[in-house]
Amino acid sequence: QHLGVSALLSDTALRFPDRTAVVEGDTRITYRDLWADVLRYAAALRERGVRPGDRVAVMLPNLAAFPRVYHAVIAAGATVVPVHGLLVAEEVEFVLRHSGSVLTISGGALWPTARAAADAAGIPTLAADHEHPGAPLTAAHPTAADDIAAILYTSGTTGRPKGARLTHLNIVLNATVCAQDLHELGPEDVVLGCLPLFHSYGQTCAMNAALRAGATLVLMPRFDAAAALELMAAEGVSVFMGVPTMFHALTEAARASGATAPTLRLAVSGGAALPVAGLERFETTFGTRVFEGYGLTETSPAATFNQRLLGRRPGTVGHAIRGVEVAIAAAEVDEHIELLPAGAVGEVVVRGHNVFAGYLDDPAATAAAIVDGWFRTGDLGAVDDDGFLSIVDRKKDLVIRGGYNVYPREVEEILARHPAIAQVAVYGTAHEALGEEIHAAVVLRPAAPGTEPPTPDDLIAWSREHLGRHKYPRVFHPMPALPLGPTGKILKRALRDATPPPPK
Ligand code: ATP
Repeated sequence: QHLGVSALLSDTALRFPDRTAVVEGDTRITYRDLWADVLRYAAALRERGVRPGDRVAVMLPNLAAFPRVYHAVIAAGATVVPVHGLLVAEEVEFVLRHSGSVLTISGGALWPTARAAADAAGIPTLAADHEHPGAPLTAAHPTAADDIAAILYTSGTTGRPKGARLTHLNIVLNATVCAQDLHELGPEDVVLGCLPLFHSYGQTCAMNAALRAGATLVLMPRFDAAAALELMAAEGVSVFMGVPTMFHALTEAARASGATAPTLRLAVSGGAALPVAGLERFETTFGTRVFEGYGLTETSPAATFNQRLLGRRPGTVGHAIRGVEVAIAAAEVDEHIELLPAGAVGEVVVRGHNVFAGYLDDPAATAAAIVDGWFRTGDLGAVDDDGFLSIVDRKKDLVIRGGYNVYPREVEEILARHPAIAQVAVYGTAHEALGEEIHAAVVLRPAAPGTEPPTPDDLIAWSREHLGRHKYPRVFHPMPALPLGPTGKILKRALRDATPPPPK
Protein backbone atom coordinates (compact mmCIF):
# COMPACT_ATOMS: atom_id res chain seq x y z
CA GLN A 1 0.00 0.00 0.00
CA HIS A 2 1.17 3.51 -0.72
CA LEU A 3 -0.16 6.99 -1.36
CA GLY A 4 -0.55 6.68 -5.13
CA VAL A 5 -1.70 9.74 -7.02
CA SER A 6 -2.16 11.68 -3.77
CA ALA A 7 1.60 11.63 -3.24
CA LEU A 8 2.07 13.71 -6.41
CA LEU A 9 0.65 16.60 -4.41
CA SER A 10 1.24 15.73 -0.74
CA ASP A 11 5.01 15.17 -1.25
CA THR A 12 5.29 18.52 -2.98
CA ALA A 13 3.32 20.24 -0.21
CA LEU A 14 5.98 18.96 2.22
CA ARG A 15 8.92 20.01 0.04
CA PHE A 16 7.74 23.37 -1.26
CA PRO A 17 4.88 24.51 1.04
CA ASP A 18 5.19 28.21 0.24
CA ARG A 19 5.47 27.95 -3.53
CA THR A 20 2.45 28.90 -5.60
CA ALA A 21 0.72 25.76 -6.84
CA VAL A 22 -2.18 27.18 -8.83
CA VAL A 23 -3.06 30.55 -10.34
CA GLU A 24 -6.45 31.22 -11.89
CA GLY A 25 -7.60 34.81 -12.42
CA ASP A 26 -7.08 36.58 -9.09
CA THR A 27 -6.81 33.32 -7.18
CA ARG A 28 -3.33 32.15 -6.09
CA ILE A 29 -2.91 29.06 -3.93
CA THR A 30 0.25 27.79 -2.24
CA TYR A 31 1.07 24.09 -2.05
CA ARG A 32 0.45 24.12 1.71
CA ASP A 33 -3.03 25.60 1.26
CA LEU A 34 -3.91 23.43 -1.70
CA TRP A 35 -3.13 20.24 0.20
CA ALA A 36 -5.05 21.49 3.27
CA ASP A 37 -8.03 22.32 1.01
CA VAL A 38 -7.84 18.85 -0.53
CA LEU A 39 -8.01 17.16 2.88
CA ARG A 40 -10.91 19.39 3.94
CA TYR A 41 -12.86 18.72 0.74
CA ALA A 42 -12.11 14.98 1.09
CA ALA A 43 -13.70 15.12 4.57
CA ALA A 44 -16.80 16.72 3.05
CA LEU A 45 -16.98 13.84 0.59
CA ARG A 46 -16.72 11.29 3.42
CA GLU A 47 -19.47 13.12 5.29
CA ARG A 48 -21.68 12.76 2.22
CA GLY A 49 -21.17 9.03 2.30
CA VAL A 50 -18.39 8.65 -0.29
CA ARG A 51 -16.47 5.46 0.58
CA PRO A 52 -13.13 4.18 -0.73
CA GLY A 53 -13.71 2.48 -4.08
CA ASP A 54 -16.76 4.62 -4.95
CA ARG A 55 -16.81 6.62 -8.17
CA VAL A 56 -17.31 10.37 -8.12
CA ALA A 57 -17.93 12.42 -11.26
CA VAL A 58 -16.29 15.84 -11.68
CA MET A 59 -17.60 18.24 -14.32
CA LEU A 60 -15.70 21.49 -14.08
CA PRO A 61 -14.02 24.05 -16.34
CA ASN A 62 -10.31 24.80 -15.77
CA LEU A 63 -10.99 26.63 -12.51
CA ALA A 64 -8.72 26.66 -9.46
CA ALA A 65 -11.24 24.25 -7.93
CA PHE A 66 -10.36 21.55 -10.47
CA PRO A 67 -7.06 20.35 -8.95
CA ARG A 68 -8.53 20.58 -5.43
CA VAL A 69 -11.64 18.55 -6.20
CA TYR A 70 -9.80 16.01 -8.39
CA HIS A 71 -7.24 15.32 -5.67
CA ALA A 72 -9.89 15.34 -2.92
CA VAL A 73 -11.82 12.53 -4.62
CA ILE A 74 -8.61 10.50 -4.89
CA ALA A 75 -7.47 11.35 -1.32
CA ALA A 76 -10.84 10.07 -0.08
CA GLY A 77 -9.96 6.73 -1.71
CA ALA A 78 -12.56 7.09 -4.46
CA THR A 79 -12.14 6.95 -8.24
CA VAL A 80 -12.48 10.26 -10.08
CA VAL A 81 -14.58 10.34 -13.27
CA PRO A 82 -13.80 13.63 -15.08
CA VAL A 83 -16.62 14.56 -17.42
CA HIS A 84 -16.09 16.19 -20.80
CA GLY A 85 -17.06 19.87 -20.62
CA LEU A 86 -18.99 20.01 -23.88
CA LEU A 87 -21.39 17.13 -23.32
CA VAL A 88 -25.11 17.83 -23.10
CA ALA A 89 -27.09 16.67 -20.04
CA GLU A 90 -28.27 13.45 -21.68
CA GLU A 91 -24.69 12.45 -22.55
CA VAL A 92 -23.49 13.34 -19.06
CA GLU A 93 -26.28 11.20 -17.62
CA PHE A 94 -24.97 8.26 -19.67
CA VAL A 95 -21.48 8.73 -18.17
CA LEU A 96 -22.87 9.07 -14.63
CA ARG A 97 -24.95 5.91 -14.95
CA HIS A 98 -22.35 3.90 -16.84
CA SER A 99 -19.63 4.75 -14.33
CA GLY A 100 -21.96 4.11 -11.37
CA SER A 101 -20.98 7.47 -9.90
CA VAL A 102 -22.44 8.12 -6.43
CA LEU A 103 -21.99 11.90 -6.52
CA THR A 104 -21.35 14.67 -9.06
CA ILE A 105 -19.16 17.65 -8.27
CA SER A 106 -19.54 20.71 -10.44
CA GLY A 107 -19.33 24.48 -10.59
CA GLY A 108 -18.92 27.50 -12.84
CA ALA A 109 -20.69 27.50 -16.18
CA LEU A 110 -21.02 23.71 -16.20
CA TRP A 111 -23.17 23.54 -13.06
CA PRO A 112 -26.61 23.62 -14.78
CA THR A 113 -25.74 20.74 -17.14
CA ALA A 114 -24.10 18.66 -14.43
CA ARG A 115 -26.99 19.28 -12.04
CA ALA A 116 -29.65 18.32 -14.61
CA ALA A 117 -27.77 15.13 -15.49
CA ALA A 118 -27.22 14.16 -11.84
CA ASP A 119 -30.89 14.76 -11.04
CA ALA A 120 -31.87 12.56 -13.97
CA ALA A 121 -29.44 9.85 -12.83
CA GLY A 122 -30.79 10.14 -9.27
CA ILE A 123 -27.52 11.16 -7.56
CA PRO A 124 -26.66 14.28 -5.56
CA THR A 125 -24.55 17.21 -6.78
CA LEU A 126 -21.98 19.01 -4.63
CA ALA A 127 -20.64 22.50 -5.37
CA ALA A 128 -16.93 22.56 -6.18
CA ASP A 129 -16.52 25.59 -3.90
CA HIS A 130 -18.30 23.94 -0.96
CA GLU A 131 -16.60 24.88 2.35
CA HIS A 132 -16.45 21.99 4.80
CA PRO A 133 -17.00 23.20 8.38
CA GLY A 134 -15.78 20.03 10.14
CA ALA A 135 -12.34 18.49 10.66
CA PRO A 136 -10.24 17.64 7.57
CA LEU A 137 -8.99 14.13 6.85
CA THR A 138 -5.61 13.64 8.49
CA ALA A 139 -4.08 11.88 5.44
CA ALA A 140 -4.90 10.51 2.03
CA HIS A 141 -6.45 7.05 1.91
CA PRO A 142 -3.74 4.43 1.22
CA THR A 143 -4.00 2.63 -2.12
CA ALA A 144 -2.46 -0.23 -4.07
CA ALA A 145 -0.58 0.44 -7.31
CA ASP A 146 -3.28 -1.19 -9.42
CA ASP A 147 -6.27 0.47 -7.74
CA ILE A 148 -8.24 2.55 -10.23
CA ALA A 149 -7.57 6.26 -9.68
CA ALA A 150 -9.52 7.67 -12.63
CA ILE A 151 -11.95 6.61 -15.35
CA LEU A 152 -11.64 8.74 -18.48
CA TYR A 153 -14.28 8.43 -21.15
CA THR A 154 -13.02 8.40 -24.76
CA SER A 155 -14.74 10.66 -27.25
CA GLY A 156 -16.55 7.68 -28.75
CA THR A 157 -15.91 8.01 -32.46
CA THR A 158 -17.64 4.68 -32.90
CA GLY A 159 -20.79 4.25 -30.83
CA ARG A 160 -20.96 4.86 -27.10
CA PRO A 161 -18.01 6.41 -25.27
CA LYS A 162 -15.86 3.88 -23.43
CA GLY A 163 -14.53 4.36 -19.90
CA ALA A 164 -10.75 3.87 -19.82
CA ARG A 165 -9.69 2.74 -16.32
CA LEU A 166 -6.37 4.27 -15.25
CA THR A 167 -4.52 2.95 -12.21
CA HIS A 168 -2.60 4.92 -9.61
CA LEU A 169 0.61 3.53 -11.10
CA ASN A 170 -0.41 4.61 -14.63
CA ILE A 171 -0.93 8.21 -13.57
CA VAL A 172 1.95 8.55 -11.09
CA LEU A 173 4.54 7.22 -13.55
CA ASN A 174 3.18 9.17 -16.51
CA ALA A 175 3.13 12.46 -14.58
CA THR A 176 6.63 11.71 -13.30
CA VAL A 177 8.21 10.94 -16.69
CA CYS A 178 6.48 13.97 -18.22
CA ALA A 179 7.82 16.21 -15.44
CA GLN A 180 11.33 14.75 -15.52
CA ASP A 181 12.12 13.62 -19.07
CA LEU A 182 9.87 15.84 -21.19
CA HIS A 183 9.55 19.21 -19.47
CA GLU A 184 12.49 18.79 -17.05
CA LEU A 185 10.27 20.71 -14.65
CA GLY A 186 11.41 22.26 -11.41
CA PRO A 187 9.85 24.46 -8.74
CA GLU A 188 10.93 27.59 -10.64
CA ASP A 189 8.79 26.65 -13.63
CA VAL A 190 5.45 28.17 -14.56
CA VAL A 191 3.24 25.94 -16.71
CA LEU A 192 0.38 27.29 -18.80
CA GLY A 193 -2.70 25.13 -18.19
CA CYS A 194 -4.80 25.88 -21.24
CA LEU A 195 -5.57 22.27 -22.21
CA PRO A 196 -8.85 21.06 -20.76
CA LEU A 197 -8.19 19.26 -17.48
CA PHE A 198 -10.95 16.71 -18.01
CA HIS A 199 -8.85 15.23 -20.83
CA SER A 200 -5.86 13.03 -20.02
CA TYR A 201 -3.32 15.26 -21.80
CA GLY A 202 -4.09 18.34 -19.67
CA GLN A 203 -4.76 16.29 -16.56
CA THR A 204 -1.53 14.32 -16.42
CA CYS A 205 1.02 16.13 -18.61
CA ALA A 206 0.07 19.63 -17.42
CA MET A 207 -1.70 19.45 -14.03
CA ASN A 208 -0.23 16.36 -12.37
CA ALA A 209 3.25 16.86 -13.82
CA ALA A 210 3.33 20.47 -12.58
CA LEU A 211 2.11 19.45 -9.11
CA ARG A 212 4.66 16.63 -8.98
CA ALA A 213 7.50 19.06 -9.66
CA GLY A 214 6.37 21.93 -7.45
CA ALA A 215 5.87 24.18 -10.48
CA THR A 216 3.13 26.80 -10.75
CA LEU A 217 0.12 25.88 -12.87
CA VAL A 218 -1.52 28.92 -14.48
CA LEU A 219 -5.03 27.90 -15.51
CA MET A 220 -7.02 29.30 -18.40
CA PRO A 221 -10.71 28.40 -18.27
CA ARG A 222 -10.90 28.92 -22.05
CA PHE A 223 -8.12 29.05 -24.61
CA ASP A 224 -7.75 32.31 -26.48
CA ALA A 225 -4.45 33.09 -28.19
CA ALA A 226 -4.28 36.82 -27.38
CA ALA A 227 -5.23 36.20 -23.75
CA ALA A 228 -2.71 33.35 -23.55
CA LEU A 229 0.09 35.65 -24.76
CA GLU A 230 -0.83 38.24 -22.13
CA LEU A 231 -0.94 35.63 -19.40
CA MET A 232 2.41 34.17 -20.51
CA ALA A 233 4.03 37.59 -20.15
CA ALA A 234 2.25 38.51 -16.89
CA GLU A 235 2.94 35.22 -15.10
CA GLY A 236 6.35 34.47 -16.62
CA VAL A 237 5.23 31.19 -18.19
CA SER A 238 8.22 28.93 -18.92
CA VAL A 239 6.47 25.85 -20.34
CA PHE A 240 3.64 25.79 -22.85
CA MET A 241 1.78 22.64 -23.69
CA GLY A 242 -0.89 22.48 -26.33
CA VAL A 243 -2.44 20.85 -29.37
CA PRO A 244 -1.34 21.92 -32.90
CA THR A 245 -4.27 24.31 -33.41
CA MET A 246 -3.11 26.23 -30.31
CA PHE A 247 0.43 26.45 -31.72
CA HIS A 248 -0.99 27.85 -34.91
CA ALA A 249 -3.21 30.39 -33.12
CA LEU A 250 -0.37 31.56 -30.83
CA THR A 251 2.04 31.99 -33.75
CA GLU A 252 -0.46 34.02 -35.76
CA ALA A 253 -1.45 36.16 -32.75
CA ALA A 254 2.19 36.87 -31.86
CA ARG A 255 3.04 37.79 -35.44
CA ALA A 256 0.03 40.09 -35.68
CA SER A 257 0.61 41.88 -32.37
CA GLY A 258 4.39 41.68 -32.08
CA ALA A 259 4.00 40.06 -28.66
CA THR A 260 6.76 37.73 -27.47
CA ALA A 261 7.10 35.26 -24.64
CA PRO A 262 10.58 35.99 -23.25
CA THR A 263 10.32 33.56 -20.32
CA LEU A 264 9.17 30.62 -22.45
CA ARG A 265 11.88 27.93 -22.49
CA LEU A 266 10.00 24.93 -23.87
CA ALA A 267 6.84 24.04 -25.78
CA VAL A 268 5.24 20.61 -26.07
CA SER A 269 2.80 19.58 -28.77
CA GLY A 270 0.60 16.51 -28.67
CA GLY A 271 -2.89 15.20 -29.31
CA ALA A 272 -2.63 15.48 -33.10
CA ALA A 273 0.07 15.80 -35.74
CA LEU A 274 2.02 19.07 -35.76
CA PRO A 275 3.15 19.84 -39.33
CA VAL A 276 6.91 20.54 -39.46
CA ALA A 277 6.19 23.89 -41.15
CA GLY A 278 4.04 24.88 -38.15
CA LEU A 279 6.70 23.73 -35.68
CA GLU A 280 9.36 25.80 -37.41
CA ARG A 281 7.15 28.88 -37.61
CA PHE A 282 6.45 28.66 -33.86
CA GLU A 283 10.14 28.19 -33.08
CA THR A 284 11.27 31.22 -35.09
CA THR A 285 8.43 33.37 -33.74
CA PHE A 286 9.11 32.57 -30.08
CA GLY A 287 12.78 31.60 -30.20
CA THR A 288 12.09 28.41 -28.27
CA ARG A 289 12.17 24.70 -29.04
CA VAL A 290 9.12 22.53 -29.61
CA PHE A 291 9.04 18.89 -28.48
CA GLU A 292 6.29 16.75 -29.99
CA GLY A 293 4.81 13.79 -28.16
CA TYR A 294 2.25 11.12 -28.85
CA GLY A 295 -0.26 9.22 -26.80
CA LEU A 296 -3.85 8.28 -26.11
CA THR A 297 -6.20 8.30 -23.17
CA GLU A 298 -5.56 4.53 -22.90
CA THR A 299 -1.80 5.12 -22.53
CA SER A 300 -2.19 7.55 -19.62
CA PRO A 301 -1.57 9.42 -22.07
CA ALA A 302 2.16 9.84 -22.93
CA ALA A 303 3.57 6.93 -24.95
CA THR A 304 6.44 8.66 -26.77
CA PHE A 305 7.96 12.10 -26.92
CA ASN A 306 10.97 13.92 -28.28
CA GLN A 307 13.32 14.41 -25.37
CA ARG A 308 16.49 16.33 -24.88
CA LEU A 309 18.48 13.36 -23.58
CA LEU A 310 17.58 10.98 -26.41
CA GLY A 311 17.62 13.60 -29.15
CA ARG A 312 14.89 15.45 -30.94
CA ARG A 313 13.73 14.93 -34.52
CA PRO A 314 10.98 17.28 -35.76
CA GLY A 315 8.34 15.45 -37.79
CA THR A 316 8.60 12.41 -35.52
CA VAL A 317 6.98 11.89 -32.13
CA GLY A 318 10.26 10.82 -30.52
CA HIS A 319 11.14 7.77 -28.45
CA ALA A 320 9.10 5.55 -26.15
CA ILE A 321 8.95 7.01 -22.65
CA ARG A 322 11.11 5.46 -19.94
CA GLY A 323 9.90 2.00 -18.95
CA VAL A 324 7.63 1.60 -21.98
CA GLU A 325 8.02 -0.27 -25.27
CA VAL A 326 6.59 0.90 -28.57
CA ALA A 327 6.58 -1.35 -31.63
CA ILE A 328 4.89 -1.77 -35.01
CA ALA A 329 2.57 -4.71 -35.68
CA ALA A 330 0.85 -6.01 -38.81
CA ALA A 331 -2.34 -3.92 -38.88
CA GLU A 332 -4.46 -6.49 -40.67
CA VAL A 333 -3.78 -9.32 -38.19
CA ASP A 334 -6.38 -9.09 -35.41
CA GLU A 335 -6.05 -12.22 -33.26
CA HIS A 336 -2.41 -11.84 -32.29
CA ILE A 337 0.47 -9.41 -32.51
CA GLU A 338 2.86 -9.93 -35.38
CA LEU A 339 5.75 -7.48 -34.96
CA LEU A 340 7.27 -5.86 -38.05
CA PRO A 341 10.92 -4.78 -38.58
CA ALA A 342 12.26 -1.22 -38.38
CA GLY A 343 11.01 1.02 -41.17
CA ALA A 344 7.84 -0.94 -41.91
CA VAL A 345 4.47 0.84 -41.66
CA GLY A 346 1.94 -0.90 -39.44
CA GLU A 347 -0.16 -0.43 -36.33
CA VAL A 348 1.54 1.25 -33.39
CA VAL A 349 1.41 -1.00 -30.30
CA VAL A 350 2.44 -0.12 -26.75
CA ARG A 351 3.47 -2.25 -23.75
CA GLY A 352 4.42 -1.10 -20.26
CA HIS A 353 3.42 0.84 -17.18
CA ASN A 354 1.31 3.35 -19.10
CA VAL A 355 -1.18 0.87 -20.58
CA PHE A 356 -4.60 1.25 -18.96
CA ALA A 357 -6.43 -1.45 -16.98
CA GLY A 358 -9.13 -2.02 -19.62
CA TYR A 359 -12.48 -0.41 -20.38
CA LEU A 360 -15.11 -0.31 -17.67
CA ASP A 361 -17.69 -3.09 -18.15
CA ASP A 362 -16.65 -3.75 -21.74
CA PRO A 363 -14.64 -6.99 -21.89
CA ALA A 364 -15.07 -7.30 -25.67
CA ALA A 365 -13.58 -3.85 -26.36
CA THR A 366 -10.79 -4.55 -23.85
CA ALA A 367 -9.95 -7.89 -25.48
CA ALA A 368 -9.81 -6.25 -28.92
CA ALA A 369 -7.57 -3.45 -27.61
CA ILE A 370 -5.07 -5.43 -25.53
CA VAL A 371 -3.68 -8.40 -27.48
CA ASP A 372 -0.75 -10.57 -26.35
CA GLY A 373 -0.02 -7.95 -23.69
CA TRP A 374 0.27 -5.14 -26.26
CA PHE A 375 -2.15 -2.23 -26.58
CA ARG A 376 -3.28 -1.64 -30.15
CA THR A 377 -3.49 2.13 -30.70
CA GLY A 378 -5.44 2.17 -33.98
CA ASP A 379 -2.73 4.45 -35.38
CA LEU A 380 -0.42 3.61 -38.27
CA GLY A 381 3.24 4.41 -37.90
CA ALA A 382 6.84 3.33 -38.34
CA VAL A 383 9.88 3.19 -36.06
CA ASP A 384 13.22 4.04 -37.68
CA ASP A 385 16.62 2.47 -36.94
CA ASP A 386 17.29 5.08 -34.25
CA GLY A 387 14.03 4.32 -32.44
CA PHE A 388 12.12 7.46 -33.48
CA LEU A 389 8.42 6.83 -34.04
CA SER A 390 6.59 8.55 -36.91
CA ILE A 391 2.80 8.57 -36.96
CA VAL A 392 1.58 7.98 -40.49
CA ASP A 393 -2.12 8.38 -39.79
CA ARG A 394 -5.08 6.96 -37.93
CA LYS A 395 -6.10 3.58 -39.31
CA LYS A 396 -9.63 4.90 -39.75
CA ASP A 397 -8.54 8.08 -41.59
CA LEU A 398 -6.73 6.17 -44.33
CA VAL A 399 -8.22 7.05 -47.74
CA ILE A 400 -8.32 4.45 -50.49
CA ARG A 401 -8.68 6.22 -53.81
CA GLY A 402 -8.89 4.09 -56.92
CA GLY A 403 -7.22 1.24 -55.03
CA TYR A 404 -4.29 3.37 -53.82
CA ASN A 405 -3.69 3.96 -50.11
CA VAL A 406 -3.40 7.65 -49.33
CA TYR A 407 -2.38 8.90 -45.88
CA PRO A 408 -4.04 12.30 -45.36
CA ARG A 409 -1.31 13.35 -42.93
CA GLU A 410 1.37 13.08 -45.60
CA VAL A 411 -0.72 15.23 -47.94
CA GLU A 412 -1.33 17.75 -45.13
CA GLU A 413 2.42 18.03 -44.47
CA ILE A 414 2.99 19.04 -48.10
CA LEU A 415 0.04 21.43 -48.31
CA ALA A 416 1.13 23.16 -45.08
CA ARG A 417 4.20 24.36 -47.05
CA HIS A 418 2.04 26.39 -49.45
CA PRO A 419 2.66 30.04 -48.49
CA ALA A 420 -1.05 30.95 -48.56
CA ILE A 421 -2.28 27.97 -46.52
CA ALA A 422 -2.53 28.62 -42.80
CA GLN A 423 -4.35 25.42 -41.78
CA VAL A 424 -5.33 22.29 -43.64
CA ALA A 425 -7.24 19.05 -43.12
CA VAL A 426 -7.30 16.32 -45.74
CA TYR A 427 -9.99 13.64 -45.75
CA GLY A 428 -11.77 11.18 -48.00
CA THR A 429 -15.43 11.01 -48.96
CA ALA A 430 -17.37 8.27 -50.75
CA HIS A 431 -17.02 8.31 -54.55
CA GLU A 432 -18.89 6.02 -56.88
CA ALA A 433 -16.12 5.25 -59.35
CA LEU A 434 -13.02 5.63 -57.17
CA GLY A 435 -14.30 4.34 -53.84
CA GLU A 436 -13.15 7.53 -52.20
CA GLU A 437 -12.14 11.01 -53.35
CA ILE A 438 -9.58 13.22 -51.61
CA HIS A 439 -10.72 16.57 -50.25
CA ALA A 440 -8.80 19.35 -48.52
CA ALA A 441 -10.38 21.92 -46.23
CA VAL A 442 -8.10 24.96 -45.97
CA VAL A 443 -7.90 28.20 -44.04
CA LEU A 444 -6.02 30.76 -46.14
CA ARG A 445 -3.76 33.51 -44.83
CA PRO A 446 -4.91 37.04 -45.60
CA ALA A 447 -3.61 38.00 -49.05
CA ALA A 448 -0.86 40.65 -49.20
CA PRO A 449 -2.14 44.07 -50.31
CA GLY A 450 -2.65 44.21 -54.06
CA THR A 451 -2.69 40.40 -54.45
CA GLU A 452 -5.48 37.86 -54.73
CA PRO A 453 -5.72 34.72 -52.60
CA PRO A 454 -5.30 31.47 -54.58
CA THR A 455 -8.47 29.92 -55.99
CA PRO A 456 -9.29 26.23 -55.53
CA ASP A 457 -8.06 25.68 -59.09
CA ASP A 458 -4.73 27.36 -58.26
CA LEU A 459 -4.40 25.08 -55.24
CA ILE A 460 -5.15 21.99 -57.31
CA ALA A 461 -2.51 23.02 -59.84
CA TRP A 462 0.06 23.60 -57.07
CA SER A 463 -0.77 20.23 -55.45
CA ARG A 464 -0.32 18.41 -58.74
CA GLU A 465 3.25 19.67 -58.88
CA HIS A 466 4.10 18.51 -55.36
CA LEU A 467 2.11 15.30 -54.91
CA GLY A 468 1.69 12.08 -56.88
CA ARG A 469 -1.31 11.67 -59.14
CA HIS A 470 -3.01 9.21 -56.80
CA LYS A 471 -2.89 11.52 -53.80
CA TYR A 472 -3.31 15.18 -54.61
CA PRO A 473 -6.69 16.58 -53.47
CA ARG A 474 -9.17 17.05 -56.31
CA VAL A 475 -11.51 19.24 -54.25
CA PHE A 476 -10.48 22.23 -52.12
CA HIS A 477 -12.82 23.86 -49.60
CA PRO A 478 -11.57 27.27 -48.42
CA MET A 479 -13.14 28.02 -45.02
CA PRO A 480 -12.89 30.79 -42.42
CA ALA A 481 -11.98 28.21 -39.74
CA LEU A 482 -11.79 24.44 -39.34
CA PRO A 483 -14.26 22.69 -37.02
CA LEU A 484 -12.52 21.90 -33.73
CA GLY A 485 -13.36 19.48 -30.93
CA PRO A 486 -13.18 20.51 -27.28
CA THR A 487 -9.51 19.58 -27.01
CA GLY A 488 -8.70 21.73 -30.04
CA LYS A 489 -8.33 18.83 -32.47
CA ILE A 490 -9.67 19.19 -35.99
CA LEU A 491 -12.93 17.23 -36.39
CA LYS A 492 -12.50 15.36 -39.67
CA ARG A 493 -15.81 13.63 -39.12
CA ALA A 494 -17.59 17.02 -39.17
CA LEU A 495 -15.80 17.91 -42.42
CA ARG A 496 -16.82 14.63 -44.01
CA ASP A 497 -20.43 15.05 -42.88
CA ALA A 498 -20.54 18.62 -44.23
CA THR A 499 -19.23 17.63 -47.67
CA PRO A 500 -22.12 17.22 -50.13
CA PRO A 501 -22.48 13.75 -51.68
CA PRO A 502 -20.87 13.40 -55.12
CA PRO A 503 -23.09 14.22 -58.11
CA LYS A 504 -24.71 11.13 -59.57
P1 ATP B 1 -10.24 12.29 -30.49
O1 ATP B 1 -11.08 11.44 -31.41
O2 ATP B 1 -10.87 13.58 -30.06
O3 ATP B 1 -8.83 12.45 -30.93
P2 ATP B 1 -9.92 10.02 -28.85
O4 ATP B 1 -10.89 9.64 -27.83
O5 ATP B 1 -9.72 9.19 -30.06
O6 ATP B 1 -10.17 11.52 -29.16
P3 ATP B 1 -7.41 10.68 -27.51
O7 ATP B 1 -6.92 9.68 -26.57
O8 ATP B 1 -7.72 12.04 -27.09
O9 ATP B 1 -8.57 10.02 -28.18
O10 ATP B 1 -6.45 10.84 -28.75
C1 ATP B 1 -5.53 9.87 -29.15
C2 ATP B 1 -5.24 9.98 -30.61
O11 ATP B 1 -4.70 11.25 -30.95
C3 ATP B 1 -4.20 9.00 -31.06
O12 ATP B 1 -4.75 7.73 -31.30
C4 ATP B 1 -3.66 9.64 -32.33
O13 ATP B 1 -4.47 9.32 -33.45
C5 ATP B 1 -3.80 11.12 -32.05
N1 ATP B 1 -2.50 11.70 -31.70
C6 ATP B 1 -2.04 12.03 -30.47
N2 ATP B 1 -0.81 12.59 -30.54
C7 ATP B 1 -0.48 12.63 -31.85
C8 ATP B 1 0.67 13.11 -32.59
N3 ATP B 1 1.70 13.69 -32.00
N4 ATP B 1 0.65 12.94 -33.93
C9 ATP B 1 -0.39 12.38 -34.56
N5 ATP B 1 -1.50 11.93 -33.93
C10 ATP B 1 -1.54 12.05 -32.60
